[in-house]
Amino acid sequence: MAEREREASNEAARGRVVRVSGPLVVAVGLEGTKMYELVRVGEAKLFGEVIEIRGDAYSIQVYEETEGLGPGDPAFPTGEALSVELGPGLIESIYDGVQRPLEVLRGMGGDYIARGTNAPALDRKRQWHFQPTVKAGQEVGPGDVIGTVQETPVVEHRIMVPPGVSGKLTAIEERDATVTDPVATLSTQDGEVQITMMQKWPVRQPRPTKEKLPPEVPLVTGQRVLDMLFPVAKGGTACVPGPFGSGKTVVQHQLAKWSDADIIVYVGCGERGNEMADVLTELPELHDPRSGEPLMKRTVLVANTSNMPVPAREASVFTGITMAEYFRDMGYDVALMADSTSRWAEAMREVSGRLEEMPGEEGYPAYLASRIATFYERVGYVVSHGQPERHGSLTVIGAVSPPGGDLSDPVVQNTLRVVKVFWSLEDKLAAARHFPAISWLRSYSLYQRAVDRWANAEVDKEWQANRAEAMQVLQREAELEELVRLVGVDALSASDRLLMEAARMMREDFLHQNAFDDVDTYTSLSKQFRLLALLLHYYRRARKALESGAELEGLLGVPVIGAISRAKMIPEAETEKFDALFKEVEDQIAGVTGTAQNNQAAEEAGVEADT
Ligand code: ADP
Repeated sequence: MAEREREASNEAARGRVVRVSGPLVVAVGLEGTKMYELVRVGEAKLFGEVIEIRGDAYSIQVYEETEGLGPGDPAFPTGEALSVELGPGLIESIYDGVQRPLEVLRGMGGDYIARGTNAPALDRKRQWHFQPTVKAGQEVGPGDVIGTVQETPVVEHRIMVPPGVSGKLTAIEERDATVTDPVATLSTQDGEVQITMMQKWPVRQPRPTKEKLPPEVPLVTGQRVLDMLFPVAKGGTACVPGPFGSGKTVVQHQLAKWSDADIIVYVGCGERGNEMADVLTELPELHDPRSGEPLMKRTVLVANTSNMPVPAREASVFTGITMAEYFRDMGYDVALMADSTSRWAEAMREVSGRLEEMPGEEGYPAYLASRIATFYERVGYVVSHGQPERHGSLTVIGAVSPPGGDLSDPVVQNTLRVVKVFWSLEDKLAAARHFPAISWLRSYSLYQRAVDRWANAEVDKEWQANRAEAMQVLQREAELEELVRLVGVDALSASDRLLMEAARMMREDFLHQNAFDDVDTYTSLSKQFRLLALLLHYYRRARKALESGAELEGLLGVPVIGAISRAKMIPEAETEKFDALFKEVEDQIAGVTGTAQNNQAAEEAGVEADT
């Protein structure tokens, strides 16, 4: 707790507060202090960050209640940037926007966080079992993994040499240690350096990587509409709008539970206190279906509620993404979910207003677009620095909640400019109980090509072709629906009516997915492929039969359609049952065709007999 305090008091009080406007404090006398440097203000040493320098006036956004603070109060520069602590103990933690541990602080001061109360982000007393993975005598450099800690039953925390440090290991041993105890000693050019399990990193600066690779491998979510039609790649970005009641929470929980990410970082920016309270109670209750452990065993939560100072909300997404990058550097696939980035942007707007900056669109600051981009640009599929070679990824899924669901809102528009996937959640679909309520017409994914290539090689060579045909059928259905509305279904040709049936099957038997059903909640890629292939098999066969004269009614009436609608409930372990269904489709359609041909033959025979 004393650490931040000590940093501050090392410096003489140099600055002086001249103005206080809510969470924004203007001070003078801080020459030499840089942008984004931490400054402590007032006798209570409230901490804040320099966000504007105009002449000798330094604007500081303060992360604590500024009540009682006034002109003449001291300001202490710290020479440090707003940073997070990185090390064992992050997982399962619940932090505020500037990495104050909420649970610990609640324990200290009741429900409200008392001003000036401070606790380190990582517990200083807790012992972790450090297991070296390298031996003394070895040369090590930045990013090299020197040991591991089993942080939770599902997360092995890899202890890395911090950026900028290299030398020869002179001592390293297996031991129980706190995050501040040295676990290894390095002999470097500048003398001996002790390595602890904790690093610090400034939140507004991306952590370095050796190489960024193109994101091509899908983040498998087990959600059919996402994986098959609108995939997000590991190391990519997605955006999901969340009209109330459209199933946004369920989508997010499904992603947290089922996506093949090793680590989840959830950044919640709630408008109303209770929105965040929901997340704080709901998320920790979820179970990780794969390990059977609570989902929190591989999750870090960052939570802002409305009763916390606004600037903390502005910082929160950077706090979250820095922790996410740290796990990525270990070689993990990390998924960060930010909900909602609209609330985050509103915090930006409020701070900007107090700075009396020239407002841009809808009162948002002119730098809204670049700030949003700065955040999303930190994603990636990367090769980490150091040995052993590790690939990690950081995927960001940002929820937006524009007022009135209006997608022309500046936050939405600026987000869509940088993200590559849009999952359009629609309340109309939710009202029709089509879940997940993700529109197959308005959503898009710019990773589709890359993922098609990957899936053609890894799942089935027909993946791309089938996916494209399914999409065509769904798009054609939308066009035909217009026509049906005008002139009625009877005006459609038999082949279009067959297409409408195929599209219905795709919507109801493939895209619709019940998150609360034990089997349906998750579908592997291979089962997704087989399920869609089965629907297409029916459609292709029926179309051919129609062309060779079979009756539409007969084709629409084959009993296997009922079996196909239940195929999504075939458990993963029994997917050989699909083979039988493919055969049934074949036989039953052949039956219809056969009858048609027999009838035709009989007719022709009749005609002949007559003559
Ligand atoms: P939001 O967070 O957008 O307000 P929720 O995620 O809480 O909405 O969803 C509202 C309701 O919709 C849920 O309680 C549930 O009944 C239903 N729902 C949403 N998604 C699904 C799904 N994939 N499967 C089944 N039901 C769903």
